[in-house]
Amino acid sequence: MIDLSRSIVQVILGFSIALTATAQAPTSAPPPAGSTDEVALRAFTAIHPIDVHVHVFKTDPAFQKMLERLDLKLLNILVTDDTNPKRKDLQRQIDDAQALVQSSHGHIALCTTFDPYKFDSASFSTDAANQLDRDFAKGALAVKVWKNVGMEIKNSNGQYVMADDPKFQPIYEDIAAHGKTLMTHQAEPDVAWGPPDAADPSWSYYQENPQWYVANRPGFPSKQRILDARDHVLANHPKLRMVGVHLGSMERDLDNIASHLDKYPNFAIDTAARMEYLMLMPPEKVSAFLIKYQDRVLYGTDLDLHADADLPDALTEWQSRYARDWKFLATGETLTVEGKQVRGLNLPQPVLQKIFRSNAIRWIPGL
Ligand SMILES: [Zn+2]
Repeated sequence: MIDLSRSIVQVILGFSIALTATAQAPTSAPPPAGSTDEVALRAFTAIHPIDVHVHVFKTDPAFQKMLERLDLKLLNILVTDDTNPKRKDLQRQIDDAQALVQSSHGHIALCTTFDPYKFDSASFSTDAANQLDRDFAKGALAVKVWKNVGMEIKNSNGQYVMADDPKFQPIYEDIAAHGKTLMTHQAEPDVAWGPPDAADPSWSYYQENPQWYVANRPGFPSKQRILDARDHVLANHPKLRMVGVHLGSMERDLDNIASHLDKYPNFAIDTAARMEYLMLMPPEKVSAFLIKYQDRVLYGTDLDLHADADLPDALTEWQSRYARDWKFLATGETLTVEGKQVRGLNLPQPVLQKIFRSNAIRWIPGL
């Protein structure tokens, strides 16, 4: 009787494992052969793409398989966020992220960060630089400064700490001296300071994350003030390579991005989580911009893989994002974005090669 029930359990167990395996198999596989997504991903793969902006918190054989199939390399970006218990302890995040890099067979690289919540400590600058040096020695290629600098952290006088604060200078010098790259997420899209706007691609983010919606907050820094501080860093550290992520937070103003790129030769941008803004602008203008500044734009998505993520769903999301972005930049296909019909830009192959790959290698050496 005991043996019988044990073997029934084994049968059920084996059956459910088989079920799970068949349930997951299709989603870790490429999209159906001949579908527009599959065709797009094949062309994307052929360019040996690099996504310079992701947040990956776990690995999984199916995820690794997708990276290998797409011949895709990722720059995994760390931030410290005191509103998220999992992102509060930096050293633990660094240890986990280094293990992830090790297990990725060259498909994942690390962009580390320092802990700006320790700003008030007397040894903040040297502690941060020492920690970065340890991370560089273990292979970190870049350093992130997140929006909590400028929008959250205050000094002992109760003033918001800005990116050009003197305490950050030794850190920037250290990054430049090691030939590493600074990735800056400074400020937020315009809509964070403006009236509610359901038509803005970022509006849903503020509904889910109201702590970053700062309109009508008395005494809150203006967006311009935060970006001016970022620009001071560019001006004061001409040997420091900086990638302004999220289109350098100038998501509605290509002319402003262009004048920054003209003024600061050490500045480039990534497209992470702001591709929709490009998709909704006049296509001739976006094409002209991307062709003129073809050496200064890095492809990034801001895709994430959380520890509790559902793998099949995540893999579907990642692949459809890559397919969508490829169709927009590389083909003349029509896409539906925020309810509008958008024509792909059909950019020349050499420009695509730079945006999806070689700019990442030039701006973030080691990738
Ligand atoms: Zn991000």
